[in-house]
Amino acid sequence: MSRGILVVVSGFSGAGKGTVMKRLMEKYDNYALSISVTTRNPRPGEEEGREYFFRTKEEFESLIKEDALIEYAQYVENYYGTPRSYVEEQLEAGRDVILEIEIQGARKIKKKLPEALLVFVTPPSMKVLKERLTGRGTETAEVIAERLARASQEAEGVEEYDYLLVNDTLEECVDTLHGIIQGEHFRMNRNLEFVRTIQLEAAVFAAEE
Ligand code: ADP
Ligand code: 5GP
Repeated sequence: MSRGILVVVSGFSGAGKGTVMKRLMEKYDNYALSISVTTRNPRPGEEEGREYFFRTKEEFESLIKEDALIEYAQYVENYYGTPRSYVEEQLEAGRDVILEIEIQGARKIKKKLPEALLVFVTPPSMKVLKERLTGRGTETAEVIAERLARASQEAEGVEEYDYLLVNDTLEECVDTLHGIIQGEHFRMNRNLEFVRTIQLEAAVFAAEE
């Protein structure tokens, strides 16, 4: 069985990443979504261990010391990080693992694991982004302003990603993402073991001629 693909999904706050991930998980059962650790407070409706593992700054710092995170970053005054063990177990078991993380974390992953697939989610326009962020109603005007400022910084790094995913119609966006990931499985350099087997078998036939 081949190893799963590590998929990194980033995008501006309010682009719809959480919504797209939730729908992708409901619709297709071949993905494992990594749950991050964060020092931010839970939003209404968020549950410990479902959206995030909510931890204090001290607890988070211990995880860093123990090397229990594959990557971590600071985002608008809070820490966010990816637990290592779940990701490694799932990849080993052949499942595609999705990390929904911001750009600093995505860069760290690409550096450590160049075979990772990086996807950037945008809304159809920045006007729609602001409407979605405001419409979600989970942040104060001040936090929304900080997140929009952060979006402007992150917009500079979009070209570092392998694929652009426009989240206009939710279902189309989810199906496109599924298609991108499934297509990636057929990339030649992800199938070198199989290719070597075929080459060896072909060589045996040739020798028998
Ligand atoms: P993110 O995780 O990127 O910060 P969310 O998933 O919380 O964004 O989405 C932000 C808001 O936009 C939510 O209120 C969500 O319901 C809405 N939204 C997400 N995707 C779409 C879409 N394709 N069409 C319309 N609204 C959407
Ligand atoms: P939010 O507070 O809206 O849930 O997340 C804020 C930002 O942190 C989003 O861009 C989200 O993708 C990112 N994020 C969530 N978990 C992680 C993580 O484990 N590592 C990194 N680097 N970013 C994360």
